[in-house]
Amino acid sequence: MNRGTDVVVVGAGVSGLTCAVRLAEAGQRVLVRSAHSLRRTTSCAAGAIWGPHLVAHDRAEHWALESLAVFRCLAGDPARTGVRMRTGVEAGRPGLPAPEPGPGAENVTACDPATLPPGFANGWRYRVPLIDMTRYLAYLAERLAEAGGEVTVGEPVTATELPRLGPVVVNCTGLGARTLVPGDPIMPIRGDLLVVRNPGIDTFFVEHDDDSDGLTTYILPQGDHVMLGGSRRTNDWSTNPEPAVEHAILDRCALAEPRLAGVRTIEHRVGLRPVRPRVRIGADERHPHVIHNYGHGGGGVTLSWGCAKEVLALTGDATRTIRQR
Ligand SMILES: Cc1cc2nc3c(=O)[nH]c(=O)nc-3n(C[C@H](O)[C@H](O)[C@H](O)COP(=O)(O)OP(=O)(O)OC[C@H]3O[C@@H](n4cnc5c(N)ncnc54)[C@H](O)[C@@H]3O)c2cc1C
Repeated sequence: MNRGTDVVVVGAGVSGLTCAVRLAEAGQRVLVRSAHSLRRTTSCAAGAIWGPHLVAHDRAEHWALESLAVFRCLAGDPARTGVRMRTGVEAGRPGLPAPEPGPGAENVTACDPATLPPGFANGWRYRVPLIDMTRYLAYLAERLAEAGGEVTVGEPVTATELPRLGPVVVNCTGLGARTLVPGDPIMPIRGDLLVVRNPGIDTFFVEHDDDSDGLTTYILPQGDHVMLGGSRRTNDWSTNPEPAVEHAILDRCALAEPRLAGVRTIEHRVGLRPVRPRVRIGADERHPHVIHNYGHGGGGVTLSWGCAKEVLALTGDATRTIRQR
């Protein structure tokens, strides 16, 4: 048990840090425990573009829109937060039309097919937040420290330890929930992301595909750098960068944006999207003071602020239940 702490959040990815910020700014004394440094979380391997993707829950759109309102405010100070509002194109190949963007995307217009890269037949132009995750995770940690919270990196928490960590415990361990919650159906969908120098790109490009395994194409400008993707491999637990995947991503992106021809990879990040049939958010059945918040698949950044608001309400319920005992 951590003395002098109201809530222990396990996990320092985007889910854990956002919950920790919400809780600390609401006056709770918060400690974050993580098995990895911020740079080594899945969250740091995200592109990241706002948009619920490879994530299932009937409240996903609601959480995404709540997060969008926060990201719009954070985009007012991109140097500090890493969040920028950007215009770009989502395009589909012949036979697989890109659907019109849902609520939240701004300035939505249909693209003239003649303006699309080779191999694409239809698409939409719109404006959404892009988030530079390296800067953004550091920003969340800074904001948490300002609110009196703390992040510690150390040994993984075990399933036995989890309920004993504090008066209220929030489980934001992403794929790590697999060991903390035996039998949970969470599984990885591997994704690769390349960081390259920005040759002057200021609009994003995203391929709309059918979410099947394999390769896809996205180009996300983040100031001096561009994030290039991507890949999708179900149930692949390896986080080893593969040169063949790197070259395939570079080729696809250069075809979509000729200014990327010949760019060199500065960093090859691999992340395992924590995918579940449904996001798990709610109190544990056996230990009601443990609140779960994991399984956000390919949309954890997009849903982060909405889910954290829900966790804040759930921790309030948990605290009241404990006091009544
Ligand atoms: C290539 C790629 C691109 C993506 N693009 C986007 C995008 O554009 N937009 C978007 O919204 N999402 C995107 N995602 C998805 C997004 O990255 C995830 O949904 C999100 O990062 C999940 O965050 P999390 O905090 O729940 O988990 P994680 O980031 O995995 O963090 C889990 C934390 O829990 C800790 N932990 C785990 N087990 C234990 C334990 N036993 N004890 C202590 N600590 C533990 C870890 O150390 C880590 O700190 C992308 C993902 C990938 C891989």
